[in-house]
Amino acid sequence: MRMQALVLTDHGPELIDNLPTPIPGPGEALLAPRLVGICGTDLALVAGYKGGYRGVLGHEYVAEVVAAPGYPEWVGCRVVGEINTTCGVCDSCRAGHVTHCQTRRVLGIRDWDGVFAEYFLSPVANLHRLPDEISDAEAVFTEPLAAAYAVLREMPKSSGDRIAILGDGRLGLLIALVLRAEGYDPLLIGRHQNKLDIANAAGIQTTTHVEAARRFDVLIEATGLPHILPEVIDMAAPRATIILKSTGIERTQIDASIIVVNELRLIGSRCGPFAEAIVALAAGKIDPKPLISSRFPLNQAVAALESAAQSGVIKVLLEPNKPSPLQPQML
Ligand SMILES: [Zn+2]
Ligand SMILES: [Zn+2]
Repeated sequence: MRMQALVLTDHGPELIDNLPTPIPGPGEALLAPRLVGICGTDLALVAGYKGGYRGVLGHEYVAEVVAAPGYPEWVGCRVVGEINTTCGVCDSCRAGHVTHCQTRRVLGIRDWDGVFAEYFLSPVANLHRLPDEISDAEAVFTEPLAAAYAVLREMPKSSGDRIAILGDGRLGLLIALVLRAEGYDPLLIGRHQNKLDIANAAGIQTTTHVEAARRFDVLIEATGLPHILPEVIDMAAPRATIILKSTGIERTQIDASIIVVNELRLIGSRCGPFAEAIVALAAGKIDPKPLISSRFPLNQAVAALESAAQSGVIKVLLEPNKPSPLQPQML
């Protein structure tokens, strides 16, 4: 069987029509996407992200299990899935830090074909069944929402409560929604009124401008700007916690003495807990649907990527191609 997929090649992203449909190996499931999301990581990979990934893009999905040899109970289930495939035996895996597996492969990011396709593979162990309360349009946010939930693990137990989130993009908005839903009162700092309006509607304070003298006890960086770190450090109150979420951050000169003198904590944060994201969605604590800017069929995936890269656009989704009424299988 052949399938269509969006492949990152040496010439950039290309829609390819005749890729072989993958065959699940031991412990693996074959999945058909119901809805997939384009995220900043996909755009960074296209823009020449380090590592030089080549293969099918995409890692945010809700899908149906088509086949799972040895696991018949999974076939037909509607699922979301974790993106790291791990070895289970290295030091990181045995310590329980599976997202830091020394030989990890990552769906649509490193050594594992992604979800911008008619079919893709996942280890069965990575899958989570979805309750009926969660719609596809909500479920497709599970992976980035889990990444937003990862911030909660790093929030200081007791410190001041001046909390700022920098960046009103996809991740910044989700982090704001999570913190608000979990009882915090963050200030979202951004540049796009249409994005800040979504946060306002969820009861989150927002601003486009912060006075130079203002300081925060917790700063969460989600701007995606490669050289933002010195600016973030300047906004930190003594003993502040700075949580860095942007994978696009680059080598930057900082005055490290400020970290020592002001006793700052600098924390990197990446993947997060799917279970918490699913519980929050099922309970209706978080509604990510206002973040959806547009939907494209898979066969317009290149245009969808271009759209997602535009300023002001938030979440672009890809859905399966609709069969043409003239195709023979309809007769
Ligand atoms: Zn992502
Ligand atoms: Zn490992």
